[in-house]
Amino acid sequence: MPAVLIVEDEPRIAEPLVFALEREHFAVTHVTLGQDALNAVNGQPFDVMVLDVGLPDINGFEVLKQLRQRSELPVLFLTARQDEVDRILGLELGGDDYVTKPFSPREVVARIRAILKRSAPATPLSAHAGGELSWQVDEVGFRIFFRSEPLTLTRSEYRILAAMVQRPGQVFSRSHLLDICDSDEDSFERSVDTHIKTLRAKLRPLGGDQLIATRRGIGYVLEMP
Ligand code: CA
Repeated sequence: MPAVLIVEDEPRIAEPLVFALEREHFAVTHVTLGQDALNAVNGQPFDVMVLDVGLPDINGFEVLKQLRQRSELPVLFLTARQDEVDRILGLELGGDDYVTKPFSPREVVARIRAILKRSAPATPLSAHAGGELSWQVDEVGFRIFFRSEPLTLTRSEYRILAAMVQRPGQVFSRSHLLDICDSDEDSFERSVDTHIKTLRAKLRPLGGDQLIATRRGIGYVLEMP
């Protein structure tokens, strides 16, 4: 039975969530303060934390920061504000995720299941790009490896790079990549440019940043290594 820690101070948001998770046979612990969440994590093992950004004592970002000093526990953020979403996207969350309020409890349950699947033991990888094994896309775990090194990607970055890895040499327009992101928050083509920029930055230490080429006025293409 997966153990979920819900950190949310608003009863009208927390209660339906607790109810939905218990109905799906999760073991649910609910706290309303960031400090209580950190104490709870010290006291007992959890499989995932559902963390509201706007808490009465310390905000969700600070909770995550303190948590990460000692734990890799996956975190699903709950957020109501665009500026919070921007900060979350900037955190390079990797295996973590977020949902925006208002949400349905069912959506949160689905996200939690996806997180638990990702944090499960490694799954077989599918290889792409000319069979050279430069790239590996783990479609089940939403991970991408470059030269056997795992990349820490946000959801949008994963979607963009996975699409490009599966079709090396194909030029993707910015609007196509925006569709691929399929994110409510990324509604501008310039956000694609930002994602490409961070992807290059993440590939740079591995010597792969030059592989994502700009086709001026058209879009982006992943070149074969
Ligand atoms: Ca709140």
